[in-house]
Amino acid sequence: MLLSRSFTTSAALQQYVLEKATPNDLIVVSHDRLARQLWHADRQRRLRQGLAGWEPLPILTLNQWFSRLFESLWPPWSVASNLERLRLWVEAMHAGPPLGELPLDLALAQRLDEAHTVLSRHLISPTGPATGGPPLVAWRRTVSQIFEAQLSEKRLLTPGQLPAYLLRELHLGHLELPSRILVLGFETPAPIEQTWFQSLAHRSELVILGVKGTPSVVQAAMMLPDVEQEMQWVAARMLELAHQEGLALHRIAVTSPAMDDYVPKFNRILVELLGPPGDQTSGAYNFSHGCRLTEHPLFQAAMLPLIFMVEGEARANLVSLLLSPYYGQLAAHSDYGVELDRVFREQGLDHGWPRLRQVWHHHPDLGQGQGVELLNRLCKIFDSLMVSRQSGRDWIAHLQQAWNCLGFPVALDLQEASALAALQNLLQELETTLGSVALDADQFLAWLRQGAQEQILAGSGQEEAGFQIMGLLEIRGLDFDRVFCLGLNAGTFPWPCRDLPMLEAAERRQVLGGTIDSQYAFAQQVFASLLGVAPQLTLTRPQARDQEPLVASPVWAGDWLTATVDHLNQPEAVWLRVPAIYQALLSPQGQLYLDPDVPVTRLTLPAELSVTDLDRARACPCWFFLEHLLGISPLPEIEAGLDARHRGARLHTALAHFVQNFGTDLKQYGNWDDHQAREILKTAVHQVFQPVSENLHWQVELQRWLSEDLETPGFLWQWLDQERQRYFEGWEWAGVELTFSQVRGADWPFSLRGRVDRLDQNSERGYQVWDYKCGQIPNSRQMFEDRLQFQLLGYLMALQQGRLKGAKPRGPARAGYIQLKSSRAVKYETWNREPGHWQAELAEWQGIIARLGQRLQRGDFLPDPQPAPDHRQAGACQYCPYHLICGWQFLKPHPTSESDL
Ligand code: SF4
Repeated sequence: MLLSRSFTTSAALQQYVLEKATPNDLIVVSHDRLARQLWHADRQRRLRQGLAGWEPLPILTLNQWFSRLFESLWPPWSVASNLERLRLWVEAMHAGPPLGELPLDLALAQRLDEAHTVLSRHLISPTGPATGGPPLVAWRRTVSQIFEAQLSEKRLLTPGQLPAYLLRELHLGHLELPSRILVLGFETPAPIEQTWFQSLAHRSELVILGVKGTPSVVQAAMMLPDVEQEMQWVAARMLELAHQEGLALHRIAVTSPAMDDYVPKFNRILVELLGPPGDQTSGAYNFSHGCRLTEHPLFQAAMLPLIFMVEGEARANLVSLLLSPYYGQLAAHSDYGVELDRVFREQGLDHGWPRLRQVWHHHPDLGQGQGVELLNRLCKIFDSLMVSRQSGRDWIAHLQQAWNCLGFPVALDLQEASALAALQNLLQELETTLGSVALDADQFLAWLRQGAQEQILAGSGQEEAGFQIMGLLEIRGLDFDRVFCLGLNAGTFPWPCRDLPMLEAAERRQVLGGTIDSQYAFAQQVFASLLGVAPQLTLTRPQARDQEPLVASPVWAGDWLTATVDHLNQPEAVWLRVPAIYQALLSPQGQLYLDPDVPVTRLTLPAELSVTDLDRARACPCWFFLEHLLGISPLPEIEAGLDARHRGARLHTALAHFVQNFGTDLKQYGNWDDHQAREILKTAVHQVFQPVSENLHWQVELQRWLSEDLETPGFLWQWLDQERQRYFEGWEWAGVELTFSQVRGADWPFSLRGRVDRLDQNSERGYQVWDYKCGQIPNSRQMFEDRLQFQLLGYLMALQQGRLKGAKPRGPARAGYIQLKSSRAVKYETWNREPGHWQAELAEWQGIIARLGQRLQRGDFLPDPQPAPDHRQAGACQYCPYHLICGWQFLKPHPTSESDL
């Protein structure tokens, strides 16, 4: 006998079930959560009746019931696990006809399995008809035949075939049924479920119970400018309801048709407002579902040794492993991993274990000597994983050995413990399915990922306490006091058509969600259920996403009101719980106010600075402070091409070697020998290129320096010509790479140190200090009007004060840059300034540095870029890496007139 009854609220439905159901009935529900809420409500009711004990209501989900019926038959069949089915699909794909370019991988096997399950549930044969249809569908049918034959041979069933198997047993009278079955939450059953229910009705009393709410429960439909504001608005309303109306948190629920999109951000908002989710007694909120196992950090960390081997031995993966907090043996040395990463980056090493290992080996001093032991341990692990092919069982054993060796995992919270349990189950299942199958490392990793992809972890928090956040299908049949439904936009709800590439059009038309019409009808049913879950429902939606306007979902035809969340201009009391917002409101104009008389820091200025540091402080005291006093420097990015600093360092070394060696010859023979000069220059350059001779970029660079091609000669030949010319003008090399220190000026709080690239001497014209530059050199205005660089003046001071080691000059001196950018940009720049002019400049700079020194000594390191950026150029900030942290924008004075804007 088949009866059906519809209720306008879930509360009424649950009330009916509690009153009518007896322990002899069976209550079949669409999901676990509904079963638990019914048990909880029954318990409350019995306690109110003063009962001390009772028999719990017999409630099962449909799948649980199917399993129990199947087990009761003691069948000669078993139900294939997900991984078993995938393995059979892979075998069937390889035994089937070829399929063009598509790789026969696990992703394709998963698609076939989905198609098989969907078709079975809709009573459509996955294998027929044998001919016709698009090539992919025809291929699917043939492969499905092979798959089903393998299943049958191994006496296995898929979960999608199980209902059909039970139906046959039902018709044969082999199943024992309760006299009455109450079915809840199956407003849109799949055809196989429908057939099952109809067949049951011939043998038992079957009562189908459903919920169809009314739109009058919609208290408000609100539009917020974007998703972020939508979630913030809802979170604020939830807290207000709990506070102002005294509602228990667990009676307030949030749902959405796009819950997967909302969960991560909504979780973050609730953490900001309420802290951690809490436990059974102090629960603040509960997400019914967590992430997939593949997305959990513990799983991602667990895979790192394998990923490193499979995905190109990448530096990033090695460093991730070294820094992972899940590896107890590594977490204690995380500083070491950071230092090592910098070394790898500085050497431009992005992948390749042999090179990474070699560089690591040459830095045993990093991390206070712990590196060697760690390196040896990792070498053993990677050796064990570097086998080309082994059985699934051996892969699992080696991976577990790696984990044990590195102390994985440590410090687990509840969520992590559940992820670990899921991972261990997955390994067991893999061992059962693939224990004896030979696999490559990448195949083994693909199986692990595929298995993990199918596992959804429990959400954070407790179902019994705190705000309840769940998907739209899961909330069906449940009862709450208030519910918020987010994301009700067209395109989101109704859900888009299901992605079923293995089905042909005629099949898709018969499948729930296979067409727009079918999804629309389904959405109407789901929305009708939603209208019954609470006496007051609030609908929300964002107006735009990524600046694209969004349209309201057609399931709600009523009006949408607008609202905004503006923490700074219209702060809400709820959001003052968030420290960042509270602090921002305390400083209403969003500006930092700093007292110029109070030092920003009391760090002591060093007694001696390098000339480069002084130039940095002159460009911006804050840059100097961050880089020099705090020792912060950005992690070098590994980019294609050469790092300008490495190029400059090699050029300086090569030229120093050349000048020293050829200079000795010149002194000895008193004669410029062109051939000899070229040979010595080549030798000097090849020496500095030797360590990088296999690097393609350096090979090209070598050509730029020394190419003999007449049309594009290397720029060093041009430089050599100019040096030759200077030699015949009477200039001699008086020294190279001359270091100095203890250079002092009047009222300077520090002395200077540095190194001069080259010092030349001419018996008639005096001395010339040179600095090599591979990039831009300052023009005359920047040097002598804006006075942006002190470097050359510092060298001249060192010369005059007799501080250059190995040089005892007397007489006039000048300075300049030798620019070595390309064969067209070899330039000796002295701005035609005579020694007297340099002397006058030095006198000016003495005062500038004295004032700068006093400022630094006061602890005033406020950002003050010179030249300051404007709307045309970035000024001193152009190459500074700290613009995101220095706060200079906030420190700028407010514009006082429109022209300042
Ligand atoms: S970005 Fe500009 S203002 Fe900020 S620290 Fe760098 S140079 Fe100074």
